Amino acid sequence: MGATYDAVIIGAGMGGLSCGTLLAKEGLRVLICEQASKPGGYCVNFKRNGFTFAPAVHYLNEFGPTGQMNEAFQTLGISPEIEFCPQDPQRRIITPQFQLTLSTDIDQFERDLIHLFPKERLSIHAYIEEWKKFVKSIEGLPLKSLEVISPKEKLQLLYKGILKAPLLIRYRGKTSQAVLDSFFKDPLLKYLLSFGARKGSSILNCASPIFWALTGNFYYIKGEGVEALPQLFLRQYQAYGGELSCNTLVTKIQVERGEARGVQIDGGEEIRSRYVISNGDSHATFHSLIGKHLLPNRFIQKLRQKEISAPIFTLYAGVDLDLAQMGFDGSLIHYYPFMDDNPWEEKDGGEFDVSKEKMAIRMDSIKNPMLAPKGKHTIAVAAYTPYELFADGETVNPRYTQIKEEIAQKIIGATEQVIPGLSSHVLVQDASTPLTYERETLNTHGATMGWYLSAKEFSRIRSQRTPIARLYQAGHWTFPGGGIPMVILSGINAAKLVLKDMRKFTNKFRVPLLSPKELL
Ligand SMILES: Cc1cc2nc3c(=O)[nH]c(=O)nc-3n(C[C@H](O)[C@H](O)[C@H](O)COP(=O)(O)OP(=O)(O)OC[C@H]3O[C@@H](n4cnc5c(N)ncnc54)[C@H](O)[C@@H]3O)c2cc1C
Repeated sequence: MGATYDAVIIGAGMGGLSCGTLLAKEGLRVLICEQASKPGGYCVNFKRNGFTFAPAVHYLNEFGPTGQMNEAFQTLGISPEIEFCPQDPQRRIITPQFQLTLSTDIDQFERDLIHLFPKERLSIHAYIEEWKKFVKSIEGLPLKSLEVISPKEKLQLLYKGILKAPLLIRYRGKTSQAVLDSFFKDPLLKYLLSFGARKGSSILNCASPIFWALTGNFYYIKGEGVEALPQLFLRQYQAYGGELSCNTLVTKIQVERGEARGVQIDGGEEIRSRYVISNGDSHATFHSLIGKHLLPNRFIQKLRQKEISAPIFTLYAGVDLDLAQMGFDGSLIHYYPFMDDNPWEEKDGGEFDVSKEKMAIRMDSIKNPMLAPKGKHTIAVAAYTPYELFADGETVNPRYTQIKEEIAQKIIGATEQVIPGLSSHVLVQDASTPLTYERETLNTHGATMGWYLSAKEFSRIRSQRTPIARLYQAGHWTFPGGGIPMVILSGINAAKLVLKDMRKFTNKFRVPLLSPKELL
């Protein structure tokens, strides 16, 4: 690790890696400081007794032939050496009463829904037609920040976004609840089509699965799973000369006269840099790494008002069941053990019961056999679980281990309705609580996607600049939002902002681009 850099990036999540790769490609001297022992953030694998599990990422969008990742990979100079395979069907929905499949054959999904809810026939048809129109209208609309595109691109974006996609304007600030209420009466149908949306959720929750089905935009990585992605980025980043320092916790962002000038790492060492990009959690970046006293009050107040995305509990099991022979094909299963006729009601820690929550069941080793020993399989089951069950502020619940085990057992019990005999075939078992996710990635309360994308937050145009000059954000706490493709775009946008500001600065002061004096 040297002492001076053009840019220091805090965190080697996919947002940080993407930002670093573009900056290094453009010839900047870049250092990524990552507190974990390897890069990837949430996009990693871990092993237990010969089984490989992914704690978070299990599907990828925008990686197909027409997806936005093609341009992103070109921009970064990365050749997609790994195999992205379509997941079709996208998901199987299982409830105690019925089963449904959501695939690229969306008309079949419509027929199946009508069969189950015949009274809502016309509304179901109108609903699916509306999303078909919506998808068509936003085809080819790039997700680029207005801050980095040329005036010509801005005009094109406005033309496509406003004139050609009126549905985008119509639904921009709407909640999933409002949209579903405007189409349907049956509460169970609304619950099903909410796809896990919370009170106040933007339309992304209810619409995305239908969009992905319509466009076939749902992929997985063949072979060793999701960790191949950060490794691919890392190789290219390092080929451009980028440096990565793992096990390096950033404890402070150095601010001088309102400008970021580098970072301090655990142990006190200072690393000077012209630009700092935070791929970490927004709360930590502004409250701990900078400090309230250096930030405008209005900004701090706004941060306080924002909600974070819902945390998840994931149970992992390595089993000696032949899942393929039992009829499973490796598609994602959304299991609804309980059909809630009031999905918008928020449940606090006291009345929370995980056995009633929607569960996402993955059996990744069916499609990627190298994830499990021969003849055995991996199962991961994820469900929403409140953070407050495990910790109260800074204090970990003294019953943490017991609660974790109780929840794991409840999830196994519920999953047995889908995978009969599961409990007596578990060879390896582990679990991630929201606290585990928080500890591993430093995302507050184990937030899955950064800020909660409420309808209000969704309709806001977010900047990747911060009140501190030369400090930017990249990743799921900023534009455009959560999920792997979004944070890759976020990283690219942040890098473009740095390059743009660098040119502006260089022109203004007529100094060489990488003046060593400027660095010190
Ligand atoms: C359970 C779960 C399931 C998910 N499923 C999917 C899915 O299927 N598909 C999908 O696209 N998305 C999914 N997501 C969301 C996706 O994983 C995230 O949106 C994305 O990985 C965030 O990437 P990021 O680069 O913004 O940050 P992160 O992945 O959070 O990485 C941030 C990195 O910064 C490091 N860091 C933070 N602070 C510091 C510091 N002070 N010093 C040094 N290092 C620091 C952290 O250690 C971490 O490595 C899921 C998330 C979860 C939790």
